[in-house]
Amino acid sequence: MAGGWARDGAVSEQIEASIEDELKRMQARAQPQGESLTHCAECEEEIPEARRNAIPGVKLCIDCQQERDGAFKARGGINRRGSKDSQLK
Ligand SMILES: [Zn+2]
Repeated sequence: MAGGWARDGAVSEQIEASIEDELKRMQARAQPQGESLTHCAECEEEIPEARRNAIPGVKLCIDCQQERDGAFKARGGINRRGSKDSQLK
């Protein structure tokens, strides 16, 4: 039994390291590389300048972006909540 508890510190250090690692990966994913497009890559609607400034490297208009986000988050039949006007306009 001796020593069983002594590893707690090491374990939480490891967890913190992997969270940090995961955060970095998420940030890398959340920031598309390259230049912002002036028109949506999906529907070719114009992307407002404010949105392009807010999201460097943005490729999609708000509608298309939300459809993608919705497809990720709302699978399994969660109600699509919120209007298309509620974000970044
Ligand atoms: Zn679009």
